[in-house]
Amino acid sequence: NKYVSHKHHVDGYPSESDFELATTPLQPAPGSDEVIVKNLFLSIDPYQLNRMKRYSSSHTAITAASKIEPGQARRIDAYGVGKVVASGRAELEEGDVVAGLLGWEQYTVVRPGTVLMKVDAKDLPISYYANVLGEYSLHLHQIKEHKKDAQIDAMIFLTTATGPSGLTAFAGFYDVCKPKKGEKVFISAASGSVGSLVGQYAKLSGCYVVGCAGSKQKVDLLKGKLGFDDAFNYKEEADLKSALRRYFPEGIDIYFDNVGAAMLEAAVANMNPFGRVAVCGAISEYTNAGERAAPDLIDIIYKRITLRGFLSVDYLHLHEQFSAATSDHLRRGRMIALEDVSVGIESVPTAFVGLFRGDNVGKKLVRVGEL
Ligand code: NDP
Repeated sequence: NKYVSHKHHVDGYPSESDFELATTPLQPAPGSDEVIVKNLFLSIDPYQLNRMKRYSSSHTAITAASKIEPGQARRIDAYGVGKVVASGRAELEEGDVVAGLLGWEQYTVVRPGTVLMKVDAKDLPISYYANVLGEYSLHLHQIKEHKKDAQIDAMIFLTTATGPSGLTAFAGFYDVCKPKKGEKVFISAASGSVGSLVGQYAKLSGCYVVGCAGSKQKVDLLKGKLGFDDAFNYKEEADLKSALRRYFPEGIDIYFDNVGAAMLEAAVANMNPFGRVAVCGAISEYTNAGERAAPDLIDIIYKRITLRGFLSVDYLHLHEQFSAATSDHLRRGRMIALEDVSVGIESVPTAFVGLFRGDNVGKKLVRVGEL
């Protein structure tokens, strides 16, 4: 069983040389309540970097809670879709396709009590269940375990658990941003997994939508295939505040923030009174501990801006509504789930590192095995 792990803590930008590929024997038969899954698609997520750090100055509790120590021959857990190859559970049998927390490896032995959901992907690709239609149930179990063992607060642990991009986009946009028809919406990392979905929900809600991304190819995709009203390459803008003033002469009502730091400051400076900011992610701060957003607080007060962090795990109660609506949009072609798929377990380090270089267009997945 080939697996990928990090060789040492990774505190700045990750590089391929921080990771290694190793092999362990695969447990031949599952124990009671265990399941052996052949991994098919793994979700590659930016938050994993925060788990590999030696420490994190302002979120020490978070990284301590689900830190992954290097050199333990311990798999890096990751959400994914796989096929049951052997089962010690009555409800699962060989050949079932399941989604849940698997790992950066070819096969995962899923431990007792850990939830696996059967995937019934008749009319949508199975990769969508590691992507836009991913669920959370497994994390809840894990959280209970961690809470018991490590005496940490469940919500703190949750902050490092991955959020399936669809529920994150749906809950963050509809619940945190509370959009109204005609409002002006700005999205950063807009061609990424979460951002591309937020933009499509915003268009379906009748908003005016502008996204920023890191290349011309991505900007063209936003304006063409994804139907954004406008888009720009933030890497070509010397002054982000004036760039946003150009794209939003009448101000921003909603900012969906995936990147933090300078872009958050610039967006807040351009917000309208009673504007809402969904603080979803801060990827530009993950690689640079010195980089921290400092939005103008006086601006926030006088313009009565709501700036709210959120985690998709707080929105499990919306999952059914989200899943029904989004599957329908996808089936009818009203939404597109962008996927950027690399092939083979050995491609995991490059896939992961690429998130921080902006290599991915849409959801980054690694296809580790064939059905
Ligand atoms: P993406 O698919 O958006 O991939 C990451 C993208 O971020 C890159 O392609 C790149 O695009 C952009 N990026 C990378 N480095 C920087 C930088 N220094 N400055 C600006 N942009 C950068 O990832 P996800 O959609 O999976 O995640 C998006 C954000 O949402 C992340 O911050 C993630 O941690 C967060 N998240 C939060 C959840 C929650 O529950 N709150 C759940 C899931 C994700 P570009 O070319 O445009 O630079």
